[in-house]
Amino acid sequence: MKRVLITGAAGFLGSHLCDRFIKEGCYVIAMDNLITGRMENIEHLIGNENFHFVHHDVSNFVHVSGELDYILHFASPASPIDYLKIPIQTLKVGSLGTHNLLGLAKAKGARMLIASTSEVYGDPTVHPQPEDYWGNVNPIGPRGVYDEAKRFQEAITMAYHRYHNLETRIIRIFNTYGPRMRLNDGRVLPAFIGQALRGEDLTVFGDGSQTRSFCYVDDLVEGVYRLLLSDHIYPVNVGNPDEITISQFAEEIIELTGTSQKVIYKDLPINDPAQRQPNIDKAREILNWEPKVARSEGLEITFAYFKSLSGEELYKKDHNSFEQYIK
Ligand code: UDP
Repeated sequence: MKRVLITGAAGFLGSHLCDRFIKEGCYVIAMDNLITGRMENIEHLIGNENFHFVHHDVSNFVHVSGELDYILHFASPASPIDYLKIPIQTLKVGSLGTHNLLGLAKAKGARMLIASTSEVYGDPTVHPQPEDYWGNVNPIGPRGVYDEAKRFQEAITMAYHRYHNLETRIIRIFNTYGPRMRLNDGRVLPAFIGQALRGEDLTVFGDGSQTRSFCYVDDLVEGVYRLLLSDHIYPVNVGNPDEITISQFAEEIIELTGTSQKVIYKDLPINDPAQRQPNIDKAREILNWEPKVARSEGLEITFAYFKSLSGEELYKKDHNSFEQYIK
């Protein structure tokens, strides 16, 4: 039985990975400090004999008893509003946290996969973004704490591979959505759906001409799984190339939710990328992977999830409040 450590296990992606690795017959050690993760995401696994939860911040020394085959490092705030609120923790988990886990992987002889991001490309001048594009990142802007932590994370991971011969994998994750996203994390999909459910207008930032490409979580998890089991050392983009403007996306959410509210426009956050679409040639070739779930289908499932949440969740106050963090 393979033993897997998943960090950020109570988060959106981490919790779906826990489900997948349990399903694959692995023993899962799930670690989270619960700053942005939530126990609700994994409470269905508590009591499973192959699942063990550890409440720990990986920015501090990480101890795990027994053998480990794989480490998947998915601990990090991952929405712009989260890393504006907790910038130092964001920097620490990407840098110190990654260093601790690489040390653990080396001690255990484990294979380590790190969750990198399309943010390493910054506000890209190459479109769509292939893995060999080096990016256009502002290190001192509000997103710099996330972008640079993730860039450092890639660098130290490659250094451990080259210097210590550690088995490493790097996935660059593009915008991903699905059940268990936090309704109030400020990201565009939960923001729009939350607004529709509360009967508020949908807030499009800027003129809405900026683009994103949204991948359904099950597709992403499949990509992670395939990359982990592959022998590919270099970064691989995983995302859905189906690109859409944020204005069009707002219209889709209005249609999906049946809300009678309208779109209102607000200031564009600083350094908000103008366009983003993954080039997934490498994932197709190396992993034989491509997304299977169309946006219409994924959005239906995600909307059903958000509708099932309690009213209390819907009215938690820190949703969609960029203004208070941008000085
Ligand atoms: N956005 C928006 N309204 C919102 C939240 C976000 O128009 O209420 C925009 C945001 O400015 C960005 C895009 O939607 O252009 C995606 O934002 P998100 O925070 O989901 O993630 P990002 O891809 O920017 O990291």
